[in-house]
Amino acid sequence: MFDNLSDKLDKAFHILKGHGKITEVNVAETLKEVRRALLDADVNFKIAKDFTTKVKEKAIGQNVLTTLQPGQLLVKLVKDELTELMGGDVAGINLSGNPTVILMSGLQGSGKTTFSGKLANYLKTKKNKKPLLVACDIYRPAAIKQLHVVGEAIGVDVYSEPDNTNPVIIAQNAISFAKHQGLNVVIIDTAGRLAVDEAMMTEISNVHKAIQPQETLFVVDSMTGQDAVNTAKAFNDILNFDGVILTKLDGDTRGGAAISIKTVVNKPIKFVGTGEKMDAIDVFYPERMAERILGMGDVVSLVEKAQEHYDEEEARKIQKKIAKNEFGFDDFLSQIQQVKKMGNMKDLVGMIPGASKAMKDVQIEDDAFKHIEAIIHSMTPKERSKPAIIDVKRKARIAKGSGTKVEQVNQLMKQFEQMSKMMKMMQGPGGKNMMKMMGN
Ligand code: GDP
Repeated sequence: MFDNLSDKLDKAFHILKGHGKITEVNVAETLKEVRRALLDADVNFKIAKDFTTKVKEKAIGQNVLTTLQPGQLLVKLVKDELTELMGGDVAGINLSGNPTVILMSGLQGSGKTTFSGKLANYLKTKKNKKPLLVACDIYRPAAIKQLHVVGEAIGVDVYSEPDNTNPVIIAQNAISFAKHQGLNVVIIDTAGRLAVDEAMMTEISNVHKAIQPQETLFVVDSMTGQDAVNTAKAFNDILNFDGVILTKLDGDTRGGAAISIKTVVNKPIKFVGTGEKMDAIDVFYPERMAERILGMGDVVSLVEKAQEHYDEEEARKIQKKIAKNEFGFDDFLSQIQQVKKMGNMKDLVGMIPGASKAMKDVQIEDDAFKHIEAIIHSMTPKERSKPAIIDVKRKARIAKGSGTKVEQVNQLMKQFEQMSKMMKMMQGPGGKNMMKMMGN
């Protein structure tokens, strides 16, 4: 996420680190580089200029040059300003209606339908709500079908009227339907076009006026940079929406949209989409995002993700096995599944402070565990529970079966051995001290 921008900002701060004594000239030079980095990330010119002006004013106000660590203070000022630009505080979602009506808007392909599903799933699993998805795209039968597929995947009802050509009526009928069925959130997916056009704006504006939603959300593809900001402005002028959803942040996004959009429309980014799967949705925290952009990681989100996916029963089972010396490859596999549930590897690495930078030349595959899983799947149940029996002959068979090389099998065996040893140490009498050393 935002690798390029992070990289350039890091280089900008290097200017300060290289000098014994920091002068006004170095600070100005650093801020010039910061501005250049923002422009390269497709941040609007005026926003980038104002940004550095503000940081500079604050730096002068706080006498940066006379402080003990001017470089660090400047990074902090940049972080604070980035946080402010992206909205300051986290913005919640208004669920006060009965039912709560949420209207989705945005261009075709922005990720509206996918996000409608993610939001329904989020509200159902995290907020204990009973959502209804509504297909209001009267032009593309495929879009209606897509929403039904999404609804089925997450176990959420989908309302559609394929023969009705009036989206206002469909939306109104859907709300009545939800009331009858005792469903308390209605998420309305509307038709999008490839570009802003008047007919589309009139249509969504009519739906908006008729149903008066509690939340009108504007969905935008973050890969589109400056265009995203312009589209946001056009939709906001008509709908005066309540919040922005930035999708496809898992892609090679430059960051311009995330940084500029709040200033242009003065509406908060509420959620981000970080993948195609239904659980690839995150609440947007401006400060955490600023920290990630500056390579400071996002430990809070990482811990939250770990807690969210932590399976207590599974952990207890594993602990028992380690104590009895029975930890095998099946358990290793189940640990991998747990990690995979937390999100894609690249994203997780980005949350570890400094790791993005340290690993920037390492190719992190989306499916980093593919080979490991293939190797383990090629083992017999006995080999998995008693890895010690895996001899040279068995290794060759496993490599062949999994389409890998014997060296890869060897490597995995070694990693497994080290991991088992470490786990035993943590469990043993010295374990407590070791945990203490690790700060637990
Ligand atoms: P709509 O036309 O606005 O309803 O857009 P869709 O929901 O159909 O999404 C368009 C494409 O973007 C689909 O292929 C989705 O799988 C993909 N997509 C949506 N959100 C994300 C996301 O957060 N990350 C990634 N990588 N792809 C996404």
